[in-house]
Amino acid sequence: MIRYYPEKIIILDDARVRDSIITKNILSAVEGRNISVSYFCEEKIAAMIQDAKKLENSYGEGKKTLLITANRGEFLKKCPGTNDYICCDYYIIDFAQNCPMECTYCILQAYLNNPFMVVYANIEDLFAELNSRLFADPHKKYRIGTGEFTDSLALEHLSEYSKILMDYFSDKPQFIIEFKSKTDYVKTFTNRSGARRNVIISYSMNAANVNRFEELKTATIEERLIAAAECVKAGYKITLHFDPIIDYDDFETEMALTVELIFKYLKPRDILYISLGAFRFIPALAEIIALRFPKSRIIYNEFIKGYDKKSRYFRFKREKLFASVIDSIKKYDTASEIEIYFCMESPEMWNALLKKAPRSDEELGGTLYDKCRNCFKAI
Ligand code: SF4
Repeated sequence: MIRYYPEKIIILDDARVRDSIITKNILSAVEGRNISVSYFCEEKIAAMIQDAKKLENSYGEGKKTLLITANRGEFLKKCPGTNDYICCDYYIIDFAQNCPMECTYCILQAYLNNPFMVVYANIEDLFAELNSRLFADPHKKYRIGTGEFTDSLALEHLSEYSKILMDYFSDKPQFIIEFKSKTDYVKTFTNRSGARRNVIISYSMNAANVNRFEELKTATIEERLIAAAECVKAGYKITLHFDPIIDYDDFETEMALTVELIFKYLKPRDILYISLGAFRFIPALAEIIALRFPKSRIIYNEFIKGYDKKSRYFRFKREKLFASVIDSIKKYDTASEIEIYFCMESPEMWNALLKKAPRSDEELGGTLYDKCRNCFKAI
């Protein structure tokens, strides 16, 4: 896949950003390319963001600029859920925002209020926050990801952020860190001597036609799986996320082909868990999808409003889609080595398809955490 390079780099003129290893890595990675680099104060950058928001295709145009700045808020966030669905008690490090890839369904289009690609370079503040918060409760089973407000690896060839985070967590095996991606970037994991025992590499999976028509500028499913197989070869474990599962043409056939491809490249024992989540969206996102991707049909279907106020498929349809994916996986995972769970589903859905339901978010988070830890200990 084609790696992202910005046309312009804007750097906050603040010592914590200017002198950061992240800024240095990015500048060194773009050296020799025709990319303008400017240093500006906070007020000037705020004005530039406002101007970029007025552009006709601000979502697309804004990504041509990479803003290296400081995160003034909290880095560590809890993945937002709702009390009415079962969540997996996941935490996120907010190290960057926005994404150079273009999935039609991407929630970031409706969520972010800055169209630039953003990287937070004040990494010493990040480490200070992690040091003070992660150790506050010694019993907490933290699974922490970085791929919520961006793709974990989309800018890795520039910033090497994941590599730095891996180093930070290397002497803290009690925390599980997950890098989630739709890229095929593996250098961070294959270039090291010995896999880190608390690191998981995670790939989004989908039906091949969804990948082709709705996940623009991403790696193909096969490229992601080749990358996953390289990570396995380097000693890592993999997790897979079928999210969003979309009611698409020839769903069963296309999805069965994706599952077949998964097990062409990976063995069940290589995969710790697989999550399933059905397409859901807020009204603002539907408007953006219609405007930016007029050929996409994904918002033209029958939906109901969920407890989280998001539109989602009717229960019978979600159940049918999930059942089809689970049946395909079970054909290969005959010994049930892979933990399968739902993202944001009710206990009724769990009981109907998985014959069990966690009693709380913490219980599900604990199950996934224990699965990772036991597997890492056994290696
Ligand atoms: S890869 Fe993820 S973050 Fe990037 S556009 Fe697609 S859904 Fe959004």
